[in-house]
Amino acid sequence: MRHAFPGGTPALDFPGTLRFRHRAEPREDLDSPVSLGAWFREAGITVDDVPAGPADLRKALALREAVHRLVRAAMAGEDHDRDALDLVNRYARKPTPVPQLTPAGRQVDATVEQALAHVARDAVLTLSGPDVPLLKECGNPECSQIFIDRSRGARREWCAMDPCGNKIKAAAYRARKRANGLLTAGRPGRPPA
Ligand SMILES: [Zn+2]
Repeated sequence: MRHAFPGGTPALDFPGTLRFRHRAEPREDLDSPVSLGAWFREAGITVDDVPAGPADLRKALALREAVHRLVRAAMAGEDHDRDALDLVNRYARKPTPVPQLTPAGRQVDATVEQALAHVARDAVLTLSGPDVPLLKECGNPECSQIFIDRSRGARREWCAMDPCGNKIKAAAYRARKRANGLLTAGRPGRPPA
């Protein structure tokens, strides 16, 4: 599967793997250990998929939700949840993946724990750095993706045009057409469309 990386950094994209958190039923992108292993590669943390098992996935989801809570608290200017803070800091102290140059190019040997340590350190750096005021949630009411808005004038509205920006713009277009249709129908001497 192809994961999405609109957040600008792993600390935002990893929580984003539980998509549409504002829906009654969010969409789980990390629905298997294989999907988790692929995420690390697609995020650029490793070169190959990381071998993962069910226990790895459970740990990854626990860390993901802890990172998510810290990001939300940072955006709201609230104190961090102690348990979330402890978990993220515990992972941030662990060894991270080690890149090596080989005749075949870059090689990164990593366990799930090391890859999660990379995400945790990124959360520490992101949430203590200059990007915190730039954190923004996607303008699609169903979408809960948070991204770093580095656009000029901080005018970025969507995590990505596809699907969020396109979906909202299409809905606005239909609403305008409906409004125009009502006006047209009210005019005398015009056949209904
Ligand atoms: Zn979005």
